[in-house]
Amino acid sequence: MGDSTTYLNNAVQSLRSLHQINNLRLSSFYRSKPQGPQDQPDYINAVAQFDTDLDAHDLLSVLQQIEKNNDRKRNGQRWGARTLDLDLLLYGNIIINTATLIVPHPWMYERSFVLYPLKELSPDLIFPNGKTLAQCILKVSADDLQLIP
Ligand code: AMP
Repeated sequence: MGDSTTYLNNAVQSLRSLHQINNLRLSSFYRSKPQGPQDQPDYINAVAQFDTDLDAHDLLSVLQQIEKNNDRKRNGQRWGARTLDLDLLLYGNIIINTATLIVPHPWMYERSFVLYPLKELSPDLIFPNGKTLAQCILKVSADDLQLIP
């Protein structure tokens, strides 16, 4: 919803400004069609990788605060249009399964808008389940993705 590219750039700037976050690398931005209800604008997606001293739950809280600061309203509708959605995809090689946080992010292996930007940053990545990014990406077409120059 709104000016997605600006929201995304704001989020990256907020992450870079935190002293607990270092060496942030950012993928290109990609345009994709919405996953759920189709009567909403295209999405703009990117993946960021960084070092952090924050534990995973504290990092999730930081991400949610950044969403809030960027006009994110939680109206209970999943998949609906939103200004900004920050997901924690991976936290090193660690597996987390709590009421508020699941890492690796459960759907990341099937989503073109996760795998292709992730490949830019870490083409040789091996997921905590032992699968490689290269294996997963073979099964996922990039036809629904548009690289934004
Ligand atoms: P969302 O609607 O995508 O913002 O996510 C809703 C809820 O998913 C959040 O309140 C989180 O507690 C939960 N969640 C579980 N795992 C994750 C994850 N890996 N990244 C982000 N949110 C997560």
